[in-house]
Amino acid sequence: MTEAGVGPDRAEEIRQNISVVRGRMRAACERSGRDPDSVRLLLATKTVAPPAIRVAIDAGEKLVAENRVQEVRPKFEALADLEYERHFIGNLQSNKINALIPYVSCIQSLDRLSLAKKLQKRLEREGERREVLIQLNTSGEESKFGLAPEEAEEFTREVSRFDALEIKGLMTIGLFTDDVELARPSLRRLRETRDRLRELNLDGVAMNELSMGMTGDLEVAIEEGSTIVRVGTAIFGSRDTSDSFYWPESGNQPG
Ligand SMILES: *Cc1c(COP(=O)(O)O)cnc(C)c1O
Repeated sequence: MTEAGVGPDRAEEIRQNISVVRGRMRAACERSGRDPDSVRLLLATKTVAPPAIRVAIDAGEKLVAENRVQEVRPKFEALADLEYERHFIGNLQSNKINALIPYVSCIQSLDRLSLAKKLQKRLEREGERREVLIQLNTSGEESKFGLAPEEAEEFTREVSRFDALEIKGLMTIGLFTDDVELARPSLRRLRETRDRLRELNLDGVAMNELSMGMTGDLEVAIEEGSTIVRVGTAIFGSRDTSDSFYWPESGNQPG
């Protein structure tokens, strides 16, 4: 092993994969007439060990996110010597808030008022603030977390009163499908909802970010306006742990 726990071949593979993903992002931006700097790449690093994440950060990637609170502290502590931005993209249980807050600047998966209230209380006590994205379920699949788009306005109005939470935009997981064109409506729906919410001009609500697009649908997501694509598999390879461990498809309780 070299590069502190990653073999040279594995390290090289990760760097190659990053440049492939960056190329896909650039091409999608060009096709849709967008500035390549208007879309950030977020590394979705669930199940990925710190040495592999380190390779990606050393290669220039500066935005990393985890899904499970248990993975957050050990991994982010192992990488504490590096400068990068840390987000949370998983289902957050209220009793895990304290274990998460010190390690992340943004929670992309805010999806219920009870959670917002508890975050506000915890942050207020410390005199701190965090960025949040509101997670919507735009594909209508029952297996997914997130509010229905119709609930977004009222929810955003309510959360906008919590001064410790800076609403930056919306997040969604697009329709799971082998035909990415079928995912397009669910991604477009997030943008349309964002645009509508932005017109409300709510105090303290920025509503600029659209976190959408993963390994399979990042091109379509960029064409539909994504500002953050969240990529795991295309960079780190396929995961041994099924995603149902992280998402509620099989009734598992993640967190
Ligand atoms: C795992 C995960 C991703 C990345 O998925 P890939 O298909 O591996 O790129 C993106 N967003 C969320 C919320 C995830 O849990």
